[in-house]
Amino acid sequence: MKAGKQTTLRDQAAVSGIGIHSGLPATLTLLPADANTGIVFVRVGRNGERDREIRADVRAVTATEFATVLGDAAGPLCSTADHVLAALSGLGVDNAIVEIDRPEDPIMDGSSAPFVAAIDQAGVVTLQAPRRYIQVLKPVGVTMDDAYGELRPYARGFRIEVEIQFDHALIGRQTLALDVEPDSFRRELARARTFGFMRDVAKLWNSGFALGASFENTLVVTEDRVLNPDGLRFADEFARHKALDAIGDLTLAGAPLLAAYRSVRGGHKLNHAVLSALMADPSAFTVVEAHEPRPEIRPEAPRPRRIRGHAETGLVARAYGPDVS
Ligand SMILES: [Zn+2]
Repeated sequence: MKAGKQTTLRDQAAVSGIGIHSGLPATLTLLPADANTGIVFVRVGRNGERDREIRADVRAVTATEFATVLGDAAGPLCSTADHVLAALSGLGVDNAIVEIDRPEDPIMDGSSAPFVAAIDQAGVVTLQAPRRYIQVLKPVGVTMDDAYGELRPYARGFRIEVEIQFDHALIGRQTLALDVEPDSFRRELARARTFGFMRDVAKLWNSGFALGASFENTLVVTEDRVLNPDGLRFADEFARHKALDAIGDLTLAGAPLLAAYRSVRGGHKLNHAVLSALMADPSAFTVVEAHEPRPEIRPEAPRPRRIRGHAETGLVARAYGPDVS
């Protein structure tokens, strides 16, 4: 794959399962998209007819309680979108259509691994258009009760730093710091599963959440142990899943970030608040275009080139035609 170029899927691939909160069966289909489309969620009817569509964007978030929900004035369109978003951005897929036939994505095993497998099945191809990044220019932080989140400049790509602290013998304090690239995402984060505490289950059910949760899709934790028969995939699977969630939530920036994200005791709500704070401050970021130098002029690695304009107009505009190479 050429460095600095946008990507999409070569073919389509589908994933079917139940929604963790609704318990309802759903099929999610990933499809190729033109350059500068971004990630677009499309609700389809039972006969495959397209109903509504929403671009995966921070302004499309309508709820962050227990899951990130995307919607518009007509109501929610898709819940629990973060694990498929994490897989797409973790593997460097810039453009894709995500068709969904229910209001909630299938939870599968509670991780991003099934979506990674679907992306691998579809294949990833390079488009002609240069990749655009959102480069963070100064730190933007949000404090929320005892949680803290911050995006700060980071020239080398996208870095995630997560710290969790639970007053719990099995979890306690866990930290994880990682430069997110397709290989590291695949190896270190994609398989980390959703977790929940047994003590919260009745409350969740009474509120209409977690109706589809089971050992098949959630790490269930009691006061002193994990109830799942197969145990943990990583000793720090909890922190890894928080990192995965943050990557999914920050995909709603609409373009890959050149930034480091630090989250302390965070969750979907904090991730959303930090990204919203960044987008609300035009002096905190700029949109840069990956520039592939002509080797005879500039032999070193591709370097981002500043382009004029604001992310809102710069990213949504279809500046390039569809082309596949
Ligand atoms: Zn999650």
